[in-house]
Amino acid sequence: MKLKTKIIAGTSFLFLMLVILSAVLIHNQWKVQFKLKTILSVNYARIQSARNLQEEILQLSRAERNYLLFEEPAYLNRIHERLKAIDKTIARLGNIAPPHDELVKELTIVMANYKNTIRKMVRLNKFWFWNRNKAKELAKNALRKQADKMDAISDKIIKYNQVAVDRQEEEILSLLNWNRLATYILCGLMIFFSIMGLFILWKTNRTFQILNDGILAIREKQFGDLPVDSANNSEFNSSIRSFNSMSAWLGGHIYDLNQLANKDGLTGLYNHRYLQEKLDEEVRRFTRSNDPFSLVMVDIDRFKTVNDTYGHDSGDVVLKHVAEVLKGNLRESDWVARYGGEEFLIFLYGADKRAAFQVMEKTRMAVERFEMLLPQHDRTVHVNISCGISSCPFDGAAKDELIQKADSALYRAKANGRNQTVLYEMDQNNTK
Ligand code: GH3
Ligand code: MG
Ligand code: MG
Repeated sequence: MKLKTKIIAGTSFLFLMLVILSAVLIHNQWKVQFKLKTILSVNYARIQSARNLQEEILQLSRAERNYLLFEEPAYLNRIHERLKAIDKTIARLGNIAPPHDELVKELTIVMANYKNTIRKMVRLNKFWFWNRNKAKELAKNALRKQADKMDAISDKIIKYNQVAVDRQEEEILSLLNWNRLATYILCGLMIFFSIMGLFILWKTNRTFQILNDGILAIREKQFGDLPVDSANNSEFNSSIRSFNSMSAWLGGHIYDLNQLANKDGLTGLYNHRYLQEKLDEEVRRFTRSNDPFSLVMVDIDRFKTVNDTYGHDSGDVVLKHVAEVLKGNLRESDWVARYGGEEFLIFLYGADKRAAFQVMEKTRMAVERFEMLLPQHDRTVHVNISCGISSCPFDGAAKDELIQKADSALYRAKANGRNQTVLYEMDQNNTK
């Protein structure tokens, strides 16, 4: 799968999960809030009122008992106060407890009976002198029964609401569990996608860095391969691989261009333009290292005759052969360039006059011995060369001066009869 597709799919999935899980979280939170509110403002309010009712009934029973015992009007007042309070509490319950309408109605009826009994009891009080204890007992039992009934109804209300509270508590806990699970999943997803994001960022950054290093290397004309992390075909690796193939292609073309720009087409040696550059470089190297070197100007003797005798094409063949022999006699640090026409310039690194003379005599003799095959004429010829040597620092350390002095020594070699090597000497300036 493409990296772009992966990122789009991953981000969309994360977004969808965020929306769903957030919706679950918010929805559950609303539900929890609603249930808590119901518990606090409805169920607990009913339980509280029912408990108040039970407490008031208890106090009423106490007042009624005292009245029957002491028959004092103060206790009667107290009974009336309690009755009023109970009426109020029943009215309140009626307001907040619609599901218990039947029970509240029952409470109201029992309450009316209770009041009737009290009224009867008060009216009969005057006649209690007759079988007084029996009458008291009857009233007491009637009132007790009615109070117990009210207490039982209150108990029913309390139990019913307590069950509702318990049930809602369970639901709240299960909602909170869901929320916890959703939060864990959310956190897990966020952590996973954050790590993935950081990984992609790191990979992208690293790839850019590698490619940037590659661009800098190309600027330094280095066309080597950039490192590829692994064998897999990720977009990161394939970008680096594409860069590497482009770099190799570019390197090859630049090499070819350099060949064309720096080398002589016929002999394959450095051309005149490039030898000037190389010499500047060598002179700079000398100023840093002080390592001596020698320059040799080489010219083929009587080359015109070769051309005249065998034709220009055969002359070219001879030029190529001479170039090969010259090149074949040099060390790694030396080089040879075609100076122009049938003239060559040789650079001998680390060679003073003596060493250069020895090398060039050997080379000159190698050319002299070499049998050059002319395919057009199906025969071989021999040519000779003349060499003029100037040395750095002995004869100077400036490029043009050294070339001119090597040329001057070459002139001398020609003047002396050709096929020889001549070292530049101070006094020969005047002879040219
Ligand atoms: P000397 O010994 O004095 O050097 O005699 P020479 O004949 O070699 O010298 P000269 O300067 O008179 O002639 C050089 C000849 O080299 C003239 C020119 O036609 C020939 N020449 C120069 N460049 C080329 C080339 O690329 N191919 C061929 N075939 N001949 C060339
Ligand atoms: Mg010449
Ligand atoms: Mg010549």
